Formats: sequence, structure tokens, C-alpha cells
Amino acid sequence: MKGARQTVLEVVGETPLVKLQRVSAGLAAEIFVKLEYLQPAGSMKDRLAIHLVDEAVESGRLEAGGTIIEATSGNTGAGLAMVAAVRGYKCVFAMPDKVSYEKVATLRAWGARVILCPSSVDPEDPRSHFSLARKLAAETPGAVLANQYFTAANARSYYRTLGPELFSQTGGELDALVAGIGTGGTLTGAGRYLKEHKPACQLVAVDPVGSVYYDKFRSGRDTRAFAYRVEGIGEEFHPPSMDPKLIDEMVRVDDRECFAMARDLLRLEGLFCGGSSGAAVAGAIKYARARDRKENIVVLLPDSASRYLSTVFNDEWLRDNGLLGGDGTVRDLLESKSGRTTITARPDDTVRHVVQTMKQHGISQLPVVGDNDRLFGIIAEVDVLRHLVTGEGHFDGTIEHLIESDYASVTPETRVDLLQSVLAEAKIALVTEDRKLVGLITKIDLIDYLSRHP
Ligand code: PMP
Repeated sequence: MKGARQTVLEVVGETPLVKLQRVSAGLAAEIFVKLEYLQPAGSMKDRLAIHLVDEAVESGRLEAGGTIIEATSGNTGAGLAMVAAVRGYKCVFAMPDKVSYEKVATLRAWGARVILCPSSVDPEDPRSHFSLARKLAAETPGAVLANQYFTAANARSYYRTLGPELFSQTGGELDALVAGIGTGGTLTGAGRYLKEHKPACQLVAVDPVGSVYYDKFRSGRDTRAFAYRVEGIGEEFHPPSMDPKLIDEMVRVDDRECFAMARDLLRLEGLFCGGSSGAAVAGAIKYARARDRKENIVVLLPDSASRYLSTVFNDEWLRDNGLLGGDGTVRDLLESKSGRTTITARPDDTVRHVVQTMKQHGISQLPVVGDNDRLFGIIAEVDVLRHLVTGEGHFDGTIEHLIESDYASVTPETRVDLLQSVLAEAKIALVTEDRKLVGLITKIDLIDYLSRHP
């Protein structure tokens, strides 16, 4: 029949762009959101899924009736399951166990086999969803690993679809594209296309507190990842699917900001989108506020609120996870320590000078800060000792090569309850705001604060 599509796969793409009205009030910039959550399997990953399957078939890796295997937080899985249903493949997905019930149920509804893996282990750990997907793909006859984190096909799919679509839909009049980054494939692919056609267009990545991308971007350091609740964005490693050289700016948001904004987007703008959409808009607003100029900012809304009805849009879940209510923040904790300035070292300080500072103040690690308060990392007593004992170095050399990254990085808005899990894993938490170090929190600072704020 005229006007009908042959299969649902032809519906993928061409999502609307809508101007924000209320949540962006008062900004000099105008913010436009791209409703990727309206795609047929529920997210922007539908674009990727079709592309990954096409490439696997073209390269001969996937044959009729074969099995598609993937490590997914849910959306790539849904896209792949839709393609598999239409084209007659089987699907097996390994997922981190922090994903919402709705995502697991959605994939099972499509007929996929889903295996949940612990969220809190390193990607290389054999129990992680990454390792399990690799193992299953190697052991299952006729199986192909979609491999979104490691294939250039990820960014390529957005370069070919979302990039041109954004450019023509905006008539090239966009000054910035803002997106949360998980694999980073969406921003890398669509962003590369936009940069080629409009070099001045800024690419702004939004990363959740707890992920490793932000610190790497700011200071080049591999800091410690720690648990956060927003799904689909942030990482604990640096996947090749993302090209960090393309990114012009990175903004950090915490779970509360993400979820509060996701709820505002529903209630104030009528947009039925999920937690990472809240993250992207919250990040875009911070970016716009800092620049304070008239410009057009486009933000991607990756998936739908329907995937988070039991979490982000459920007060009980928010309360259970310490994401509602007025508990203290890192800012409160720093204020309660006021009077005590943060002692720091400079990258060109000598080992002798740093040892003297540690001795004088009775401390065993110092943040290393360069010009304009730029954070370089930390220097710890144990590293200085190893350096001297192994005979590699002497007292009059600089500390530059001893700077390390065994810290977690938080913002002044991070909740104190989250700090407890952060400091269970990292030696110290460094607090940064607008690229600058604004404080340092040790386990004893936290104990002290909690003893006074039971
Ligand atoms: N938001 C959600 C809900 C997602 O599932 C994903 C994909 N992991 C993203 C954002 C980020 O997309 P990308 O992996 O392309 O960076």
C-alpha cells in the first residue's frame, strides 16, 4: 500500500527537534532537544543496531539464523533485538545488574536471552558483562559479537545518519551539540560530521560523577571510577569507540541533577525521556550558563521514561538510593572544615620540599596543582618512599614523574552519603569545580563530619 513502510526498520531516523521553553528560561542561549527516544525500539541506538547488523552480514560474520551477542546497558540490545526479530536472528545480551527492571523485561519481551552480571567489577574481570559477552561469542556456533565499545562501526553509524540529519534539520545553524557519553559513539560520529561541515560547532560531552571520562579530559589522569545510578552514560575505562580529540568541552553532572532534570523535562516540558536525557539537558544548561551568549544548542535525548518508571520516576526508589531529601553535600562538609586550607604541591617542586611539607603538616598525600589551580593529580608518601628506596631517584629531583591518580573526583554538590562508598575504594576524594581544585576529603574528614551530623 502506498505510504506504508516495508518493515519497522525503515522507520528508524528522522526524529523531531523541539525548543525547550521552561527549564531553559533566563538563558541567553536557546536549547533545542532531539527526541531520539521516539525511535521504534525506544532509543537512538536503533540507528547503531541496524548498521552493526548490516556490517556483520556484509563482512560475512553473520549468516542466516545466526546469533547476535552484545554487552549492553539495554538500548543497543533493544535495537539489536528489533533488527533480529525482523531478520530472523537470535540474541543474547550480557547486562550490568544496575540496569532497571524495565530494560531487562523489554529485551526478554523481544525474545532475547538476558544474563545479568555484577556492575561493580572492572571491565577486564571475567564476571563483567563485557567479558561474558566476549566469552559467549567465542563459544556459541554462528554467533557474532556486535562489539559497540570496540568497533569503528559505532561512530560511523552516527556519522552517516544522525550527523547529516542534525545538519539539515538545523539548516547548519547549531553552535553546539551536547550529548551524554557512554561508548561515546554517538557524539564522536555525529560530531565528526558536524565539525566537517561547520568547524565552529562545539561538541560538548556530559559525564556523570563517578565515571572516568571527566578527569581524563581535564587533567589527563586515570582516576578511580565509583558507582552512580544514571544509566547509559559514563564509563570505568576509555573505549576506542570514542574519539576524545573531537570533544571541545566536558561538563559533569551528578545523579541528583540528572534525575531532577529528567523529572522536570516530563512535568514542565511534556518530554517523556529518561535519566540520561536529564543528564544531557542539565549539562547543556551549565554549559550555556557559563558561556552566557546568544547561540543555538542542540541536546540529544537518548531514550524514553518508560524504561525508568520503577527507578527515576519512582519516589521510593529515589529515597532508597539517597537521591531525595536534604542530606548534606560535599560543600557542607568542606564548610565544616573551614579555616583549614588545602595544602598542595606544585609539579616542579622537589622531592625534598614535598617531604618537608608532609612532615610539617603530618599528612601522607598532597594534591599537585599547577598554574591557574589546575589539578595534576596527587603525590603520596608511599610513592616517594618507593622512589627513594629503589634508588631510582634522589631528593633534589622534581616530583613530576611521581604524580599519580589514586583518587576519586567529586563536585561540591555530591551527596555525603555517596562519599561513603567513594572513600571505601579510593584513598582520598578531590573536590573540583570549574576545572579548579576546591578541596580535599579524607576518610577521617568524613568520619569527623558524620560524627557531628548523625
Ligand atoms: N543514554 C543512554 C540511555 C544510553 O543507553 C546510551 C548508550 N550507552 C547513551 C546515552 C550514550 O550513547 P553513546 O554510547 O553513543 O555514547
